[in-house]
Amino acid sequence: MNDTMQENLLKLPSVPDFAQKNFKEHFLQADKVMLVLIGIQWIIATFITSISYDTYLYGFIGGGLITLILFFAYRSFKGTQVMRALVAVGMMLFSLIYIQQHLGRIEMHFHVFIALAILSLYKDVVPVFVAAATTIIHHAVFNFLQLNEISLFGMPVMVFNYGCGTDIVFLHGIFVIAEALVLGYIIKLQIEYGVELNRSENQILGLNEELSFTSLHDSLTGLPNRYNLYSQLKLMVANANRYERKFAVLFLDLDHFKNINDTLGHNVGDGLLKAVSQKLNSIIRENDIVARIGGDEFIIVLNDFSDSGTLEQVISKILDTFHREWIVQNHFLRLSTSIGVAIYPDDSKEINELMKFADIAMYKAKSEGRDQFSFFTATLNAQVHEEVNIAHDMHRALEDREFVLYYQPKIHILSGKIIGAEALIRWNHHEKGLIYPNNFITIAENTGFILKLGTWIIEETAEMISRLQHSGYTDVHVSCNVSTRQFQNLHLFSDIENAIRNNEINANQFAIEITESVMMEYLEVTLEVLKRIKNLGVHICMDDFGTGYSSLSYLRQFPIDSLKIDKSFVDDISEYENNDHILLNTIIAMGQTLNLNVIAEGVEEAYQMEYLKERGCEYYQGYYFAKPVPEDEFFVLLEKNRKI
Ligand code: C2E
Ligand code: CA
Ligand code: CA
Repeated sequence: MNDTMQENLLKLPSVPDFAQKNFKEHFLQADKVMLVLIGIQWIIATFITSISYDTYLYGFIGGGLITLILFFAYRSFKGTQVMRALVAVGMMLFSLIYIQQHLGRIEMHFHVFIALAILSLYKDVVPVFVAAATTIIHHAVFNFLQLNEISLFGMPVMVFNYGCGTDIVFLHGIFVIAEALVLGYIIKLQIEYGVELNRSENQILGLNEELSFTSLHDSLTGLPNRYNLYSQLKLMVANANRYERKFAVLFLDLDHFKNINDTLGHNVGDGLLKAVSQKLNSIIRENDIVARIGGDEFIIVLNDFSDSGTLEQVISKILDTFHREWIVQNHFLRLSTSIGVAIYPDDSKEINELMKFADIAMYKAKSEGRDQFSFFTATLNAQVHEEVNIAHDMHRALEDREFVLYYQPKIHILSGKIIGAEALIRWNHHEKGLIYPNNFITIAENTGFILKLGTWIIEETAEMISRLQHSGYTDVHVSCNVSTRQFQNLHLFSDIENAIRNNEINANQFAIEITESVMMEYLEVTLEVLKRIKNLGVHICMDDFGTGYSSLSYLRQFPIDSLKIDKSFVDDISEYENNDHILLNTIIAMGQTLNLNVIAEGVEEAYQMEYLKERGCEYYQGYYFAKPVPEDEFFVLLEKNRKI
């Protein structure tokens, strides 16, 4: 015999799957089998008593009483431990009837057999002990009757065929108890082998209870979770319909929560979420709901808001509760939230849609500067649909070559010569016509499509530079715009490197325009990527300068060649006032000090150019000279400009 076989032999049989899956079902089955056994015993008891004695009525009535009680008990206790105990007592009473009818002669055998039936069918300690107790009580009572020669309805009262007395009852009791203990021990072994059903059943019940709480509540904050919220919303919908009421779904998303998590760690983040949950819970009314449905996303459902001021006032109050110092693990934190609102049934009668609409409105609130709320509107919905369409359509458009680059000349103010161009993307849609980047670049950034599109833009720019070179314009550069998102990995670098190598162009003619947000977001990776790009010989231009942080320190830190003064500064230059623009002047001066080229963008008027010229700004770009134009037109502009 090998080891595994030995192991298997020593192992107790395991509970069949059906039983493990459904204990109640199993016990119901076992109860039925037991009741059939009892029915059979009843017939046998009547039969035996009628052949041995003429007291078959005693067997019939006594057994019938037991059987009847058990059948009635089954109706209200089926599948429960009470039923198991009653069955054990009932079975034991039958065994006791036999013993008495045989004047104690067949005494010992029945207990064991019956206890074994209980054991194998129920695998439960309680019925075994109940059966043992029944035997002991029975023997004590009938021993007393036998000793005192008291007769009960003329039935035999003899329980021990070898005489009676307290010592016999005592000895016998020890035997029964020992027998119960042995069986109990076998059951205990079964428990240890995971076979015992009753205990597992209790465990499962406990587990179920726990599960039903955790499956309905968020483990961190204890607030209702998404699933729970949906079922509560269903009730609310029913109520709102019945009483013709409205309710508002508020979608809350904490502003810049990721920053807190990233800089102070998840413990502080979790602590803050708990604090926010408590606060939200304390400000809502009894009939309202607050639930956490994701990381830093909460839903508040406001019921019947008409009596507590306008809905706007209630929401403003919620926004205000965030405006305080939150203290989490000795950190003082400032927090705000953005809220989107959708109303049942005005906006939608469908729960999922209502949540989606509130979410859309929340994004609107975020895009409008956060720390505010926004109501869902049909226009907003149309806008989102349009954006979704665009997002889908962009992939096809790239395949169908619908994207084109336009080129806007950059001019040297003093000489009027074109020194280069900025490549600006356009979408030449086969149905909608020319689409401007403001309508799709953000979507491309949000969906990640910008990575693919960005690769195309870089390749296209390089091809353009190659054509410029072939036409003899070896000193005209072309810059392309690069999104923050493209700095997340090293692809940008290899895209540029490949484009330059494959098109055999001079890297000095290639430029990229980046915004300040690039610098802020992934500081270390960005710096690394920028340095590598710079090492290729590519020119790096800081776009929209003056609108962001505009700190001198990072200007020094980053390998930048030129500064583009944002259009808003140029717009400020007016024709008539004898104006002086300190900020604009400072930026120009700053660029000069750091030895950077300074380009003004959005120059539309002659006086703007004059002003810039006077302050020493060297280059400009704008409608005053030319709008962004298709490639062939740009070549025409270059041709004209060559003569200067
Ligand atoms: P930007 O990089 O600041 O580009 C300058 C924008 O100002 C361009 O708008 C240009 O047409 C416009 N502009 C130039 N001169 C004047 C002027 O004198 N007056 C006025 N009112 N506007 C002027 P455009 O082409 O619509 O591009 C808008 C933005 O879209 C760009 O701002 C840039 O952030 C983004 N973008 C454009 N092309 C690309 C691209 O290829 N890749 C990426 N990632 N973004 C791009
Ligand atoms: Ca630009
Ligand atoms: Ca710009």
